Amino acid sequence: MGSSSLQTDASQVPAAKGDSSRPCPACGRASSHTFRFRINDCDILQCRECGLGRTETSAFDPAAYYTDDYFSGRRSDGYSDYLGAEPVLRREFARSVDFIRRYREGGKLLELGCAYGFFLMEAARYFDVAGIELAAQAADHGRRAGLNVLQGVADAANLGRIGHVDVIVLFDVIEHLPQPRETLALCCQHLNPGGIIVITTGDFGSTVASLAGARWRLMTPPQHLWFFTQESMRRLSADLGLSVEQVDHPWKLVPASLIVFQLRRMLGLRGQGVTTASRVGMPVNLFDAMRIVLRKAA
Ligand SMILES: [Zn+2]
Repeated sequence: MGSSSLQTDASQVPAAKGDSSRPCPACGRASSHTFRFRINDCDILQCRECGLGRTETSAFDPAAYYTDDYFSGRRSDGYSDYLGAEPVLRREFARSVDFIRRYREGGKLLELGCAYGFFLMEAARYFDVAGIELAAQAADHGRRAGLNVLQGVADAANLGRIGHVDVIVLFDVIEHLPQPRETLALCCQHLNPGGIIVITTGDFGSTVASLAGARWRLMTPPQHLWFFTQESMRRLSADLGLSVEQVDHPWKLVPASLIVFQLRRMLGLRGQGVTTASRVGMPVNLFDAMRIVLRKAA
């Protein structure tokens, strides 16, 4: 993703308690940050201006982390049984496609972090689809299903290979990116005029996140590096010249196994989750996850 004046590599700065200054990728400049809490050997700081939370960690290698283990329940902060949950995930993704088509009916669509390609399979009914996925086995799975999936990260080279697109989706991905501002700027460059970017991520400013604090279900550093608020998304988008078309907190069909898995983690229980519940979908909304639609000027 290249170097930038915005150095967000936390290894450059010592962990500090109390207020300190950090370059905020949402504000686009240095701002004062408050220490919130420490969890999983990571300090969680928060920008006092936009509310963006950040994970301070010295050793996190996404390529070593997003392996097959991440999707099969062998990581307590990953997915319980992603492949087994395909029917539920496909139904949820079909609803996401319907939502996206309210803003853009067709054209070329790119998904960053497309996992096993389940969303792209649904989107392919209306769009010319492509994906980028870091986990090799997940990327292979999509390719075997006939999808155009590049294995790697969303850097200039991979985005260049895909070319210009009309829709870019990042479902629960932006919080994992080491440099979210730079990646979003690249997306913007590869978006056709009038094109949209659809992002889902946790809402750190939500009531549930505020009440739960360090025990929030999405407070999983170092897997999650950023904890966005509506204000931080607005600042980041405005800086990149993208207009915010919509922000909402959608209901979601969730595999029952993932609910059990996350409850077990919250209660500190270890061991195997309940994979037989993968095929059962439950509508869930804690109003602590947001969906944002951004548009590039036509
Ligand atoms: Zn900020």
